[in-house]
Amino acid sequence: MFHRDGFKKSLWQNHSEIFEPAPVKKILQHYDVIIAGGGITGINLGLQLQKSGKQVLILEAKNLCFGTTGGTTAHINTLLDTPYNVIRKNFGDKNAATVAQAAKDAVDLIRKNISEYKIDCEFSEAKAYLYARDRQQEEELNSIADSSRMAGLSVNIAKKIPVPFEFIKAIEVPGQAKFNPVKYVYALAGAFEQAGGSILDQHRVTDIKEVEKGVRVTAAGKEFNARHFIYATHIPSGVNLLHLRCIPYRSYAMAVSLEDDSYPDDLSYDMEDPYHYYRTQVIDGVPFLIAGGKDHKTGEEVDTTHYANSLKFHVEKNFKVKEIKTSWSSQYYESVDGLPYIGRVPGYNFIYAATGYGGNGMTFSHVSTLVLEKLLDETIIHDNLFTPERIKPVAGFSQFVQHNANAVKELLKKLVPFPQMDQLSELAHDDARLVKYEGESLGIFKSSNGKIYAIHPQCTHMKCEVKWNGEEKSWDCPCHGARFDPMGKVLNAPASADLESVDISELNEEKRKD
Ligand SMILES: Cc1cc2nc3c(=O)[nH]c(=O)nc-3n(C[C@H](O)[C@H](O)[C@H](O)COP(=O)(O)OP(=O)(O)OC[C@H]3O[C@@H](n4cnc5c(N)ncnc54)[C@H](O)[C@@H]3O)c2cc1C
Repeated sequence: MFHRDGFKKSLWQNHSEIFEPAPVKKILQHYDVIIAGGGITGINLGLQLQKSGKQVLILEAKNLCFGTTGGTTAHINTLLDTPYNVIRKNFGDKNAATVAQAAKDAVDLIRKNISEYKIDCEFSEAKAYLYARDRQQEEELNSIADSSRMAGLSVNIAKKIPVPFEFIKAIEVPGQAKFNPVKYVYALAGAFEQAGGSILDQHRVTDIKEVEKGVRVTAAGKEFNARHFIYATHIPSGVNLLHLRCIPYRSYAMAVSLEDDSYPDDLSYDMEDPYHYYRTQVIDGVPFLIAGGKDHKTGEEVDTTHYANSLKFHVEKNFKVKEIKTSWSSQYYESVDGLPYIGRVPGYNFIYAATGYGGNGMTFSHVSTLVLEKLLDETIIHDNLFTPERIKPVAGFSQFVQHNANAVKELLKKLVPFPQMDQLSELAHDDARLVKYEGESLGIFKSSNGKIYAIHPQCTHMKCEVKWNGEEKSWDCPCHGARFDPMGKVLNAPASADLESVDISELNEEKRKD
């Protein structure tokens, strides 16, 4: 089973071994492109660039699909989470049509890859159903339907939906799809190596410097040189403007078997806030109903287990659940204006990023490939709607200000009423909390065998205070989404250094029993 950046096992983890990259026989003096990140973005982009004649090296901090690709639910959409009415409002009619076309091209690229490399990833075509359950939602649905049509999507009114919920109006959008993302990424990784590309896993990029006509990249204590560097790390490391423009969210998912055969073939979405979605994935001949939603901003809700339970309650109430096979959660990043940031990182010449996909990373990772392929061809100047250098449209601004006010609050917040150290005895095994000790905040984790670990809960990215995520057993930063395991080791960018550990070995239960 491959590793993921969480404690819970995703559906895909239960059905896939770790991808072992082929040994890299020779490190080249100079690569055309170095990509950090072995998720769907990095691997697909690497393959297309390598195929086009570039020499590409992929550096992955842990193992392929360690990040959100290993915890996704893998709907493939042209009907996007940021509805086309919002895209029109923020970017205009013409650009809304450009986005719809980019999404269609991306889904076509997925189809093309599957056919060209004969990938068995249980891909199937599907329709998306979006349904309104009250008048206010109906009004919004009408606006989404009209704007989606204007952007170039085919949208029909649906009399029936595939899931057992009352509704007053629903739309049906063909041209969507679903697949097993890990099987897909692994097959692309194999094709990338076949084409002459190299993958080094367990190589976290810790430093990138622009040098004359390129970059020098440090990973796992080694230096690598390239013309271009691309952050396919879901959010770039370090400190740059993109962290102020992307908001981290946690989202919950589960896979269940049903007592009857009422597995919905297509993709269904309600319009609640936060919303729910449902689809079926057949893996090795066995169907699973995947349900998800209940999203909230990372680190803002202390009791993540409550969110996971509320999704379970919702699914058990509405479907004939035979068995919950697995439930998990993962993190995504939403941009302030609703479109991803794909292109050159502001302030750099040779460093690029692809981030802010929201809940449409399957599609936007392939949009990224199509955009970055063009941008890396330095002989032509391309228009790029997705550029990170774009000026913020007004509509995104209030969310931007609000989120960053929260981030600043977190940065400044030093004193909160913490339980005292003696309350540690109440701490359950495999649980953690923030405590105040001699005027300092400490993050205390008690492992399954009673061993106590302590960290300074100050995120190594921009010094915000991390919060405990009980569901996935991680320290999550509410400001920019960096995450750390219970002992403080980095799980997710933008941080690349571990939390500072504190030696409190005298507090360990075993010792205290002596
Ligand atoms: C619960 C959930 C459900 C979702 N469902 C859908 C869906 O149905 N459809 C959809 O389109 N999208 C969905 N998304 C979004 C989608 O899964 C993501 O946008 C997508 O997986 C991101 O892929 P990625 O390759 O960019 O990033 P990741 O998969 O996160 O990969 C980044 C990789 O970079 C590595 N890395 C990080 N830092 C470094 C470093 N410094 N050096 C080297 N490597 C590094 C990580 O280890 C990781 O493997 C969902 C998201 C969530 C949270």
